[in-house]
Amino acid sequence: MIRTVLGDIEPDALGVTDSHDHLFFASQKLPGQELDDPAAAEAELRAFAEAGGQALAQWTPIGLNRRAEELPALARTTGVHLIAATGLHQAAHYRPELLSRLRDGLAGRFIAELTEGLRRDDDPDGPPLAARAGLIKIAGDFHHLDAHAETVFEAAAAAHHATGATIAVHLEGGTHPLGVLAELHGRRGVPTASIILGHLNRFPDAAPHREAAEAGAWLGFDGPSRANHATDWRLFDLLRSLADAGHADRVLLGGDTTSAAARASTGGGPGIPFLLTGIRARVIGELGRDVADAFFGRNPARAFDADWRA
Ligand SMILES: [Zn+2]
Repeated sequence: MIRTVLGDIEPDALGVTDSHDHLFFASQKLPGQELDDPAAAEAELRAFAEAGGQALAQWTPIGLNRRAEELPALARTTGVHLIAATGLHQAAHYRPELLSRLRDGLAGRFIAELTEGLRRDDDPDGPPLAARAGLIKIAGDFHHLDAHAETVFEAAAAAHHATGATIAVHLEGGTHPLGVLAELHGRRGVPTASIILGHLNRFPDAAPHREAAEAGAWLGFDGPSRANHATDWRLFDLLRSLADAGHADRVLLGGDTTSAAARASTGGGPGIPFLLTGIRARVIGELGRDVADAFFGRNPARAFDADWRA
């Protein structure tokens, strides 16, 4: 089943999916670009639905303004399935005192959000909200994992083993995908089919992508993100090379809108709908409708599916 903010659904019911995006997000690393407006989030989600969108996974982790209390109403009013995340980002996104508080009992915190309910980010030790997390979001570092990442990866693996939940990984600059697989799968026993490697588009090196696909991991290509667009022009080469090698069944696509300037509904852009009006249209044109149906439908239906054993 796929755990959405309105409850668990059959994978077949997910539909056309943005596998990595943000309705709400705020980090001290992106001052002045906070996504913190429920009306703008609703407008963006409606535009996504009008473009044919049916589901969206929000990768915002604990403490970065998920606005989990707003998500059920947004899913209900727009009809878009929303998957929310627990998890933790790189240390640089947090004030030190909040970080040391969050890192205390981290695996238990992740498991509670997956099974009992998400917590408000302004009250992380408060009572559970009605909506549960359906995903664990964590982050690596540039070509390595630091001590903070090791702690978070250990907690994420424990939460996966307790719940079956998929782990979605921010790869810094798209780097270190095979190191992340070695840590999560090789060292900690998380099945590769429960690991999403995000931001691979930011480091357009086809060989490790192919190796990660052969290992059975999910390959996330997410953008155009205004903060990280230098490699956007390589996206279709990478997708074609994976499809030609028989790995169209491992690819997930997302918009990764992380800043107010990137949101279409408030005058910026290209925004969340562009994933369908721009990227998907071109996938259909260049790689065919069956590949597009895999990227936007069949693959996310399997990637976010879990047995919720807890
Ligand atoms: Zn993201």
